[in-house]
Amino acid sequence: MIIVMKPQASKEAVQRVLATIEENHLEAHVSDGTVVTIIGVVGDKSVLMEKNIELYDGVDKIVEVTESYKLANKKFHPDASVVKVGNTTIGGDELVIMSGPCAVETEEQVMQTALAIKKSGAQILRGGAYKPRTSPYSFQGLETEGLKLMKQAKDETGLSIVCEVTSLNAIESAVKYVDMLQIGARNMQNFYLLKEAGKTGLPVLLKRGLSATIDEWLNAAEYIMAEGNPNVVLCERGIRTFETATRNTLDISAVPVIKAKSHLPIIVDPSHATGVRKYVQPLAQAAIACGADGLMIETHPNPETALSDGPQSLTFEQFDNLCNDLRPFAKLMNKHF
Ligand code: PEP
Ligand code: MN
Repeated sequence: MIIVMKPQASKEAVQRVLATIEENHLEAHVSDGTVVTIIGVVGDKSVLMEKNIELYDGVDKIVEVTESYKLANKKFHPDASVVKVGNTTIGGDELVIMSGPCAVETEEQVMQTALAIKKSGAQILRGGAYKPRTSPYSFQGLETEGLKLMKQAKDETGLSIVCEVTSLNAIESAVKYVDMLQIGARNMQNFYLLKEAGKTGLPVLLKRGLSATIDEWLNAAEYIMAEGNPNVVLCERGIRTFETATRNTLDISAVPVIKAKSHLPIIVDPSHATGVRKYVQPLAQAAIACGADGLMIETHPNPETALSDGPQSLTFEQFDNLCNDLRPFAKLMNKHF
């Protein structure tokens, strides 16, 4: 942290700031310029912020040098993290594909989907049992019944499973069935939910909020990690912009930016990013090419009848073609699936 004093700051004002730094057992490095005095502070600065040092007489501004997220920060953990989900790992040599319906609807739908995506090479089955829908009148999910169907599909296929949780109740049910919890875009800053998900110790797939900056997203990951749970995987799923041609705008640059700022794995969800089936393939290619560790792709036995997100869901044939198309991209990036 750097404290920049005002040009007319008195010697007494500078002394008062230095005294506060010393009293709190922090180190001060003073640079006396011809116009302004700058004080560099080393150590845990949070105590100075609590003392409202920016309001001290003669202080112009505070400049943060390191980010507020520490556990998720690459500076303090330079090696890339690999997160184990069931018998799959995310962040290593494997390109991990999570696929399945937006919402779990029936046993037949989940079983057919699990068998089809496994055959095409996906490692993780996704399916929402608790659906955070924009309208309260839309299908809200089968809840525990949906979790049980996902578990049944896991037992019969060997696929790992990921399900979204939207409340503490949902977490308490989901931990009995799933390999990974998903925190959706709408809950990315539900700090209570983040902490509760952290406490479970289960891997957490943390989707980026609709309008969240990368800094806010990494701070959300920090909430989970601060509970002693390092198993966080980030998911870029498009952000709100002025563009209406697609459901959201895929921020593809988030992939290299996250790789530069954090050691956590990141996957891309082109289905929710675009909301349009035909754009899933080119964006999946782009995601792999810029270093994503995996993809989340919505599939459905019959997208026309899907209770949610039909227009962006792929048929099994389309998903199989997509997987075949993506293999050379994965190989180019030294990954396989
Ligand atoms: C989902 O994965 O089905 C979902 C609701 O995604 P998001 O939170 O990204 O909108
Ligand atoms: Mn969906």
